[in-house]
Amino acid sequence: MKIPAKGLDREGLSKVLKDYKKGDLTWRDGKTFSYVYNAGSAPEEVCKEAYMAYLSENGLNPTVFPSLLRLENEVVAMASAHLGGNSEVVGNFTSGGTESIILAVKTARDWAREKKPQIEKAEIILPITAHAAFHKAAHYLDVKKVLVPVDPTTCKVDLESLQKAITPSTILLVGSAPSYAHGVVDPIEEMAKIAREKDLLLHVDGCIGAFLLPFLRRLGRPVPAFDFSVEGVTSISMDFHKYAYAAKGASVVLYRNKELRKHQFFTCSEWTGYSVVNATIQSSKSGGPLAAAWAVLNFIGEEGYLEIAKSLQEATEKVIAGVGEIPELRLLGNPEMTLVAATSDEVKVFHILDEMKERGWYLEPQLAFPPHKESFHLTITPANVPKIDQLIQDLKEAVQAAKELPSANLADQMSGFLSNVNLGELKDEDMMGLLAMVGIQGSKLPSRMAPINEVLNVLPAPLRDGFLKNFCNELFRYQG
Ligand SMILES: *Cc1c(COP(=O)(O)O)cnc(C)c1O
Repeated sequence: MKIPAKGLDREGLSKVLKDYKKGDLTWRDGKTFSYVYNAGSAPEEVCKEAYMAYLSENGLNPTVFPSLLRLENEVVAMASAHLGGNSEVVGNFTSGGTESIILAVKTARDWAREKKPQIEKAEIILPITAHAAFHKAAHYLDVKKVLVPVDPTTCKVDLESLQKAITPSTILLVGSAPSYAHGVVDPIEEMAKIAREKDLLLHVDGCIGAFLLPFLRRLGRPVPAFDFSVEGVTSISMDFHKYAYAAKGASVVLYRNKELRKHQFFTCSEWTGYSVVNATIQSSKSGGPLAAAWAVLNFIGEEGYLEIAKSLQEATEKVIAGVGEIPELRLLGNPEMTLVAATSDEVKVFHILDEMKERGWYLEPQLAFPPHKESFHLTITPANVPKIDQLIQDLKEAVQAAKELPSANLADQMSGFLSNVNLGELKDEDMMGLLAMVGIQGSKLPSRMAPINEVLNVLPAPLRDGFLKNFCNELFRYQG
């Protein structure tokens, strides 16, 4: 494909762009349980207006767009006040949870380089429920990740294993408030005590929950302490593009004080161009996401967020009760927010998801990570609230329909293949063979995903990763 010789007219462009969306997830109907957090048309319009008003302003240099500096400092101050921060707490606006987390790990790494120069290779301790973004951070930043198990029933970090995993090279502990997979809050107070005793940093991943949890607490829900009110919590990440309903590209990373935060910055004076000082990973960046986040926080306000939180809480209780009515399903952990995960010991989970898809629903699959088995996940957002009765009704039907379906048993064929290969020697060609075996040709996905998910589910982690990389490598390729 080439850039067209003559430009298209604006009307034509809009039409094409709209057309391209045809195969997309239909999130506006309230039957999608992830990806889009929408609190209705008014907040959406507010975001769009503010975003467009700041679309072209550049966050590259905070001294030439003082408006952006002011918006950022105000948004960070609101976030800090929301999370028990005092006047010492500082932070930055980032493009998302992943960037906030990478920055928190980078800050910890560089803090340790200064304070603990004897450490050769820094280690961070991750409960297996910690978000994949921490693995990405470790990968990008060349920090060693040490995984620790969670209690199989509560799905919260196992403190004894955590204690045992600490070595002289440990720099950072990570807890979630709550974890994405199971929606439960790690024992942050106990973790903070350990961190203080051992002179470690403690990051609380509140990407999905830190904004909503304080509102749920005010509504009377028992929310354990997880924020800066806990001595020993040294940084927190919190996304606005989730339960604050901001436009995507909106998160914040907060630190206990400036002494710690200074390790986040990057400066460069060793080239022939302008002096670079970046607070975050991005350099040139649109002011749009920041302005939209600022605007939606001010538009909805505390009372508005409380009202939304109340409806989410009621919807979540209904989902939990509804899942409880289906004997074939089993909840994982005791969901403390608005994230619900369930599995089945009798029916194939991936068939249930396909059956739900047939009925217009999108629920998220979560593959097995032994000893944790595969499950499905619901992130309940305002759009879902009016649909919960229908969800439970359809879920009951889907479970029954899934029972009737034969198991694909591709997983069995696969185990034959797996027993004959040395995982370390697996080549890309073998991987493409694997892809073909489960029905993936090029980047085309079949409409029923159970066979693919079942295969992925039995693959050991390195092979699963290889498979996904090859698939993605195929996906991002123009093929006419
Ligand atoms: C969403 C999420 C992240 C990652 O955030 P992105 O905005 O997708 O980069 C990290 N941690 C938790 C708990 C999350 O839910």
